[in-house]
Amino acid sequence: MKAAFLYGPGNIKIQECQIPIISEREALVRVRACAICQNDLRFYAGLKKYISEGDASYGLTGHEWAGEVVKVGKEGIELSEGDRVVFSQLYPCRGCRFCKKGLFNLCVNKIQIGGGFAEYAKAPLENLIKIPEDLSYESACLAEPVACAVQAHTKSNIREGYKVAIIGDGPMGLIHLHLAKESRTKTFVIGHHDEKLKIASHIGADVVLNSKKETTIEKFKELTTDNTHIRSEFMVIDDTKIVRETIDSSGADVVIVTVGNKDAIEQAFELVCVGGTINLFASIFPPIKLEVDPNVIHYQQLVLTGSRDYTPEIFKKALTLISRKVIHTNLLISHRLPLSQLQNGFEEILKRKSLKIIINP
Ligand SMILES: [Zn+2]
Ligand SMILES: [Zn+2]
Repeated sequence: MKAAFLYGPGNIKIQECQIPIISEREALVRVRACAICQNDLRFYAGLKKYISEGDASYGLTGHEWAGEVVKVGKEGIELSEGDRVVFSQLYPCRGCRFCKKGLFNLCVNKIQIGGGFAEYAKAPLENLIKIPEDLSYESACLAEPVACAVQAHTKSNIREGYKVAIIGDGPMGLIHLHLAKESRTKTFVIGHHDEKLKIASHIGADVVLNSKKETTIEKFKELTTDNTHIRSEFMVIDDTKIVRETIDSSGADVVIVTVGNKDAIEQAFELVCVGGTINLFASIFPPIKLEVDPNVIHYQQLVLTGSRDYTPEIFKKALTLISRKVIHTNLLISHRLPLSQLQNGFEEILKRKSLKIIINP
């Protein structure tokens, strides 16, 4: 079969290799669609190290994939050849203290598997979920990023009527927008790509703000205040300097940061309302240090959280949201490429103009 191999940063080769051999608890799948994830990009760009480069890296970290089952291990009573399936990457141990609490996404023994940038991939039976007949492979393979977003929404306690600010107009920002709409919130998308913000409006964002063109924070405060109250507190710093801190009724109940940069996180502290939640959905590579005045968190009673991965239940929920067309996957996909052009796909993402890129091996 043909598969992608990584030979150092920015160096992908498509080569012939053996079709993976499956165990009794695994199945072999002919991969029909595998989307490129930001996490794949980090390995490609050398920001994260691939555990094994070269020959052992077949299929790379590709984990957003769907396809048809071609062979089933002996224990696979619920799967048959020809079944259409999507792969759920997470394989929790179900025995650690976090799994026992149902926090499978935080499992300390979890195994994350990939291998999707190849004609064939193998997976444990329980990680393959059947997909409805009328759902395309390219839509189904987006269940993984959608599941990550659903996990973040659950963690952020988003409720009907909330004001939700989404920083970032990339594919994850647009997925969060779909979910926030479904929760009947008032949605604000802050980005700086006109084309992507146009898609956000089309999806139904109540307000889109281009941070390169407008003074986002002031505009946002204007749009979100109910003009009921402004309170000032005076703080003395170093016995001499007096700083006036203004707390007003503006801001978002929840701010989701979908881009991994310092400015975006600092902006989140400006956009969140008193008692609100900031969810750092995007990770940052290379890592940075933040400077935050702890008083801001204390006096404004902010909740600062992150979110990663998803539980098996949430993965199924994500798949249902896609098949119910709550998530319009066609609006999230900008490129469809053959496996031979995988490297071009990565380069396209680095230009920051694309949305989701689907590889059809
Ligand atoms: Zn992913
Ligand atoms: Zn565990």
